[in-house]
Amino acid sequence: MSQQWDVIVVGMGAMGSAAVWHLARRGKRVLGIEQFSRGHDRGSSHGGSRIIRFAYFEHSDYVPLLQRSDMLWKEIEKRSGEKLVHRCGVLYGGVHSSEVIAGVKHSSQLHGIPIESINPAQIGSRFPAFAKCSEPIEEFLFEPNAGFVRPERAICAMLDDAQRNGAVLREGQAVQEWRERGEGVEVTAGGVTHLAHELLLCPGAWTQELAQAINVPLVNTRQVIGWITPSEPTRGDSQVMPAFFIERENKVPMYGVPMASDQGSPSGIKVGFHGDGQECFADSIDRVVRRDEMTAIEAAFARAAPGVAGAVTASSVCMYTNTPDGHFIIDRIPGCQRTTIACGFCGHGFKFAPVVGEILADLAETGETKLPADFLRLKRLMRD
Ligand SMILES: Cc1cc2nc3c(=O)[nH]c(=O)nc-3n(C[C@H](O)[C@H](O)[C@H](O)COP(=O)(O)OP(=O)(O)OC[C@H]3O[C@@H](n4cnc5c(N)ncnc54)[C@H](O)[C@@H]3O)c2cc1C
Repeated sequence: MSQQWDVIVVGMGAMGSAAVWHLARRGKRVLGIEQFSRGHDRGSSHGGSRIIRFAYFEHSDYVPLLQRSDMLWKEIEKRSGEKLVHRCGVLYGGVHSSEVIAGVKHSSQLHGIPIESINPAQIGSRFPAFAKCSEPIEEFLFEPNAGFVRPERAICAMLDDAQRNGAVLREGQAVQEWRERGEGVEVTAGGVTHLAHELLLCPGAWTQELAQAINVPLVNTRQVIGWITPSEPTRGDSQVMPAFFIERENKVPMYGVPMASDQGSPSGIKVGFHGDGQECFADSIDRVVRRDEMTAIEAAFARAAPGVAGAVTASSVCMYTNTPDGHFIIDRIPGCQRTTIACGFCGHGFKFAPVVGEILADLAETGETKLPADFLRLKRLMRD
C-alpha cells in the first residue's frame, strides 16, 4: 500500500495542532484533520485564556514537562511574532493541608520554583482584590513566573507555522473511521480515505466516539465560565491582579484570569469552578448558560475577591474530558502498532500542549520519547 502521508493527526485543538507543528518542522509529510475550524468554540480550547503554572499541585512529575513546554511556548511566540503568554503571576489560596497549598509547596521545593508565601492578614496590601476574602484561607502563595496563555491564538500560531513548513490541513471534515491495515493506517474523512504510516488521535471530548479501544471510562463534563465586569474596571486588570486558584470550604476550587486589554474575547475577569461540571456528551451538550449558574459565579467571586466583585456580563460553556485518576493519557492504543492517542486532559492540559505535541511527534517518528511521560501511559488505568 503506498502511503500518502508519514503521519495523519485527527483533531486540531490544543494537542493535535501542537503535534502537527512539531511534525511539519521535522520535515514529515503530515495531514491534520479537524471537524470544525481552527480555534473553534465547541471543544475544550476556547474562552480567551488558559492558566500556565509550574509549581504543579496535581503531581510534581508534571514539572519537567511544564518546563519543556515553557521553552516551546517561547519558541512559538518567537516564530509567530505574537505575544501569547502573559506572566501576571498566579495566586493560590487555601488551608495549609489542602491539595493546592501543600502540592504547590511540594513541587516548588522539589524543583526550585520560586513562590512567595503571603499571610492572609497582609494580602490586601499586596493584592487589594483579595482583601476581606471570606473563604477560610490560612495561606496565600504567589508564583510570579506563572500567568496565562491565549488558547485560540496559540492554536492558530502553531497551525500557521505548520503550514509554512508544509503541513496540509483539512478543516470542516470529521473523521468517520480509521483502521490499521498492513503496513499503514487508513483514515476516512469527507468521503476520502487517506493512507499514512502513523496515526495520532487527539479528539478531546470526542474520544469515546473515535477510540473505544482504549477501554478506559472517560467522563466529559460541562464547565461554565463567566466574565465578571468589576465596578472599577482597572482594578481587575492584569497589571494589578494575578490569575488565581482559590480553595473553597466544602466546594470545588475557583479559578480566574484577570482582564487583559488585547484579549480578543469577552472583557472582564474570567471565572470558573474547577471540577463540579455535570456529565455531558460532546455532540449534545447544553451550551446555554442559565441565570442561576451566573449567579453562583458572581456569589463565589464576591466571597473570594470582594475588591473586584461585579456582575457576569458574558459566559461560555466548555468541556473537560476526565480520566479516573485526573491524569492525562498519552500512549499507543492497545492492540495497535501505529496509532497513538492523547486524551483525558482533565481540565488542566492546555499549558502542556507544546510538549504533548513533541511527545506525540516522537512516538509517531520512532515509537518512543526521551521526555519523562511514562507516568501518563494507559497501563495504569486499563480495565481487565
Ligand atoms: C473551562 C475550561 C478551563 C480550562 N482552564 C485551563 C487552564 O487554565 N489551564 C490549562 O492548562 N488547561 C485548562 N483547561 C484544559 C484544557 O483547555 C484542555 O485540557 C485542552 O484544551 C484539551 O485539548 P485537546 O486537544 O485534548 O481537546 P480540544 O482542544 O477540544 O481538541 C480536540 C479536537 O478534536 C476535534 N475532533 C474530535 N473528533 C474529531 C473527528 N472525528 N474528526 C475530526 N476532528 C475531530 C475537535 O473538534 C477538537 O477540535 C480548561 C478547560 C476548560 C473547558
